[in-house]
Parts: sequence; structure tokens; C-alpha cells
Amino acid sequence: MSDKKKRILLTQIKQDFTTPVDAIADYINLILESSANYDEEIIDEFQNIKKSARVLRLNFFDAFKDYAEQQNKNISTDEEASVLRHDLRTPLNGIIGYSEILLEDFEDEISADHNEDLNKIVQLAKEVESVISNFVEFLRHGFSAAKKDEDISTGAESVFSSLGKIDSEIIINESISNSKILIVDDNKTNCDVLERRLNSKKFDCTVAMSGKEALKLISQVDYDLILLDVLMPEINGLEVLMETRKKYDLDKLPVIMVSSFDDVESISKCLLLGANDYLPKPLNSTILLAKVAATLERKILREREKELLSELHYQAITDELTQIPNRRYVFNSLEKSFSQILNENKEHFAVVILDIDHFKNVNDTYGHAAGDEIIKAVSKISTDIVSSPHLFGRIGGEEFLGIIHNASEAYLREMCEKIRTSVEELETLFDNQNIKVTISGGCAFTNECANTSDLINKADERLYSAKKNGRNRFFFSEE
Ligand code: GH3
Ligand code: MG
Ligand code: MG
Repeated sequence: MSDKKKRILLTQIKQDFTTPVDAIADYINLILESSANYDEEIIDEFQNIKKSARVLRLNFFDAFKDYAEQQNKNISTDEEASVLRHDLRTPLNGIIGYSEILLEDFEDEISADHNEDLNKIVQLAKEVESVISNFVEFLRHGFSAAKKDEDISTGAESVFSSLGKIDSEIIINESISNSKILIVDDNKTNCDVLERRLNSKKFDCTVAMSGKEALKLISQVDYDLILLDVLMPEINGLEVLMETRKKYDLDKLPVIMVSSFDDVESISKCLLLGANDYLPKPLNSTILLAKVAATLERKILREREKELLSELHYQAITDELTQIPNRRYVFNSLEKSFSQILNENKEHFAVVILDIDHFKNVNDTYGHAAGDEIIKAVSKISTDIVSSPHLFGRIGGEEFLGIIHNASEAYLREMCEKIRTSVEELETLFDNQNIKVTISGGCAFTNECANTSDLINKADERLYSAKKNGRNRFFFSEE
């Protein structure tokens, strides 16, 4: 038998074995996750099935390593074959036996779903029986005894032959070439191999040969991706991963774990601790490049998504003409600040509503575009004066609202006077014409109001009084 055919047959046997055995493990885990109200005795039996499945898997892979992966090493005596058959059948019989005990003795105590699952487990275990026979026969007598020639063509070989010759390569998108990748492994050969493979795709690689060195580099350099070995002396890969995740999330700094562990538990542990993906050793270069590329592309997509979201958020709270907070944002902040006075005993504050005088005339005389320039100029002057921690926004056409924190009346008067005089002195040049405007304002304090609409109404009434009394002035009370 050619080595190639042998390999294909082995792959098939391995797959025929792992598919039902993994399904058994899945069923039993699902049952155990929802078995809280069963008696201890029943749970013990389920645990026994789980243990048997684990032993079966271990024994199978031990034999697979000892015989199948060693070229031309076969089982030489019938006795040896029967020992192996015994080692595999014992845990398998355990699975069937414990399941049948549960089905026969505890049928009524176990839910209908779980009864059904147990029947499926027995079915699956029976499938495994024939795989075990095939496997042992194959190791004892070679290919001819195990399966007929034509069976093989239904396996892995035909999957690939149906696709024709595959000679394409993983394409590295321009957007991710030159990405900065940190390779962390205590083994020099591993680092060299990874570095060479990735450098050939124009990635910008750095190597760290210990967890400590890796953490130092991560704190100094903005990497796009870390390839992280799990097993390292002193600080291991999982510890590096946990430290990294304290500062950077999965999108900001992706981490792919690289390790020879191929058991489900360590993979799931890495993922739970915040690894983006997982690469088993020995590395396959196609899988390596595909995962590196996919992870880097996802990082870029996520970054664009975040930028877009923050752009959208900015637009949602910002007035387009003046680029200062819009009505929605100002009123939300007002509600929030007011409730903080009531619920958190925060200090009282003041609001000022100001409005450009005779603005309709400006538009009528100089045109709408000129009016826009005036709105922008008034907004600029006011935000220079009413800066953080205060808030100033545009709440209507030529109407603005300021929230002034920690303000005495004297301070507020001084601030409003400064805005008023600055606007009065302002000359806006538009189409060779100097445009001048004034503003009026009304102020109110939270300590004279029960809620925000009271506050707005009071400030509005005072603004109206200021308009009525000659404009270009601010009212702070019913004067
Ligand atoms: P008062 O002194 O009583 O406030 O008089 P006024 O003319 O300023 O007030 P009125 O409310 O009658 O007019 C406001 C004008 O502002 C009407 C509207 O066309 C104009 N306006 C509203 N939004 C904008 C804008 O974004 N750009 C421009 N150029 N004009 C605007
Ligand atoms: Mg290592
Ligand atoms: Mg006006």
C-alpha cells in the first residue's frame, strides 16, 4: 500500500472515530449542564459515561500515535491486537453499560429529553465498535484487511480530487500588509519559522523569547497582532494573555494562541481568557496565514466600525452649522444635571437662553448665507466665554442655551455681560459689507424651579422681557 493511501485511510479512521466519540461527549456535557435536580446516584452514572468517553479517546490516540503515525510499524501478533482491542472496548463497554443502567433503572427519574439523548449515546457507541475493529485490523494486517479499495475513494481523497488541483495561495490584502506582529515563543526554531513565513508576506515581525520580554514590548509598541506560545517558563502564554487583556480588548490587540495542546479544554480556556483564535502546532502555513489575515482584517473592520459609530454619535449630538452641541444634547444634559441636584445633592446651576436681535432683518438685508455667518460668529464668541465645565449649545435657529455650573448671580451677570459686549463689538465682513448684531438673554436658576421645563420657561420669559425692554440686554429676574 502506498504511503499516501495509508495516510488517507488513517485520516478516515481517525475521523470515523472522533465524530461519534465527540458527539457522545457533547451529549453527556449537555445532560450534565441541565441535571441539577437529579439524585447524586444518577449524576454519578452520567459522570461515569463521561469518564469512559475520555479514557476511550485517550487510549485511541495513544494507539494512533504508537502505531499509526510511526511509518510501517504494525501490530505483529494477534495477542498484541487483542490487548489493544481490549483497551479500546473496555471504556466503550463502559459507555454502553452505564447508559443502559440509566435507561433501565432510572427511566422515570430522568427527563424524556435525556432518555432520548442516552439512546443516541448507545447508538453512537455501537458505531464506534466497528471503527475499533477496523482500526485494530488495519494495524494488524494492513490496508487489505481493513477496508476494500473502493471505499477509500469516498473519503478525504475524493473531497480534494473533486476540486481539481488547488494551487492558489492565501491572498494578503494590501490593507493588512506591513501590520506589526509580535511573535512570542521560548523556542528559537519556532520563532524563526514563524518569522520567516510571515516576513515573506511583508508583515513587520518582532520576536520575543519570553513572557517578560513580550509584556515589555507590548507596553512600548502598538502591535496589530500577537502570536503567543502557551508553554513558556516563568511567565507563560496564558499569563501574558491575561495581562494584555487588562489593557487591550480583542479588537484593539488581537492575540492568536499557538500551542501543541490539542485538547478541547486548553483551547476553550484560551478563548475564555480573551484569545481571538488558536493555532495548533505543528503549524500548517496555509492555516497560519489564513488565520493571521482574517484576524488582522477583522481588526481593521472593527476599527472602521468604531470610527463610524463615533462619527455618527458626534453627528447625533452636534449642530451641523456651528459644530457646537445641538438641541437634543443640550436638553438631555439639562435633564441629567437637574436630576443630579435632586438625587445626588449636586450644586444648583443656572441657564441662560440667548437670541440674536432682529435676525430676520439680517437675513432680509444681507441674505441667508450672511445670516449663517452671523450665527457661526455668535456661537464662536459665546463658546469661547462659556467653556467647560459649562455647556453651550444651539437650540434653535438663532437661539442658544448655556448651562452655567457653580455660578453665583454676580458671576453669571459678569459672564453674560462679556458675551453681550463681545457680540455688540463684533463686525462680520460678508460680501464687503460689515454686519453688526446684538443679542438678548434671559437667565434662571435651578433653586427657583421645580423642574427643567420650569427652568426653561422662566429663562424664556426673561428673554422675552429683555426683548420688550429694548433688546441688547440680559434679564436675571422679573425686572
Ligand atoms: P427678535 O429680535 O424678536 O428675536 O427678532 P428676530 O427677527 O430675530 O426673530 P424671528 O423669530 O422673527 O426670526 C428669526 C429668524 O431666524 C427667522 C428665520 O428665518 C431665521 N433663521 C432661523 N434659522 C436660521 C438659519 O439657520 N440660518 C439663517 N440664516 N437664518 C435662520
Ligand atoms: Mg514554548
Ligand atoms: Mg431673534
